[in-house]
Amino acid sequence: KLSSDGDDKDTSVRVAVRIRPQIPREIIDMCRICTTVTPGEPQVVLGGDKAFTFDYVFDINSTQTDIYAKCVEKLVDGSLKGYNATVLAYGQTGSGKTYTMGTGFDCDVTDIQEGIIPRAVRHIFSGIENLQTDENGVNRGTIQFSVAAQFMELYNEDIIDLLDPYNKGRVFKIHEDPAGGIYVSGATITPIHGPQDALKCLQQGALARTTASTQMNAQSSRSHALFTILIRRQRALSPEECGLPEGDLETLTSKFHFVDLAGSERLKRTGATGERAREGISINCGLLALGNVISALGDKSKRATHVPYRDSKLTRLLQDSLGGNSQTLMIACVSPSDRDFMETLNTLKYANRAR
Ligand code: ADP
Ligand code: MG
Repeated sequence: KLSSDGDDKDTSVRVAVRIRPQIPREIIDMCRICTTVTPGEPQVVLGGDKAFTFDYVFDINSTQTDIYAKCVEKLVDGSLKGYNATVLAYGQTGSGKTYTMGTGFDCDVTDIQEGIIPRAVRHIFSGIENLQTDENGVNRGTIQFSVAAQFMELYNEDIIDLLDPYNKGRVFKIHEDPAGGIYVSGATITPIHGPQDALKCLQQGALARTTASTQMNAQSSRSHALFTILIRRQRALSPEECGLPEGDLETLTSKFHFVDLAGSERLKRTGATGERAREGISINCGLLALGNVISALGDKSKRATHVPYRDSKLTRLLQDSLGGNSQTLMIACVSPSDRDFMETLNTLKYANRAR
């Protein structure tokens, strides 16, 4: 049996489940709660008999701080040391993905309600300051950091640059550099000098995001949103450290992707047809490919042979930050209410396959 803290696993992929509280509408409609968390174990039981175990489980009363501290903080620390990381929020529309990630930038949220992205951005800059200064707060001057942000949306397998929304018709291509790094040519890279700059990018992109209404939820988001922080760390190496008389410069780069995935709900239920239905098909293609990639990464025999990154734009874009030395966290978001039982079951099955 795996230990409950998920730390001693031989894989870079961890899976968390978060059950959101009931929203006012569900309380008015007297929906019942059909999820329970087994005390002391990272296990969700759905409808009394369907039990699923994950690396972390967060019940209805868990806070944004709990989630950040238990499963995101260490990924941010790793990113300052040159490791790539990806945090993904998966689940049906209305399950709490955007709330958890903090992608739908909202000036009204209190500090307590802040999602993962604003917390991570602050942590990155405080981490940089700690690495740059000595115990007296004096800048040692040996480590230089530069930070930048990108914000893209994947919609029907098309890439949209959310930091340059006037360029909407443009076709972006995904490239791989000789070192295996993935980049989108021509996509805006905004230099970030502090948390406020990053939050500005987040706000700008959130405003530009494509949304379309379906019968189920007017705000339903039919696209994947990828907010990325790029970090470059340069350190002057002394002649003793590198063995060269004139010293040398060590450069580490890393990427942190924060992905607010499209709603995972089945099409039938939203009553979508035509254009909406077509979107649904390509969204599911990305989610399907993502499930296959993450499942291959967790399977030692497959990991060595083939990880199908090229099956969708989503997995291709994330290729250098899923697997290898990267740390990946998938947060499966679910509703506790009985009327969402089938979607919750689908989400738990998808997430279970990922671990
Ligand atoms: P999604 O992005 O998956 O469609 P949202 O993040 O928009 O879902 O969440 C749907 C609704 O539930 C929103 O009104 C949101 O504020 C609320 N909500 C989601 N998770 C929580 C939570 N953990 N605590 C309080 N409210 C939440
Ligand atoms: Mg959302």
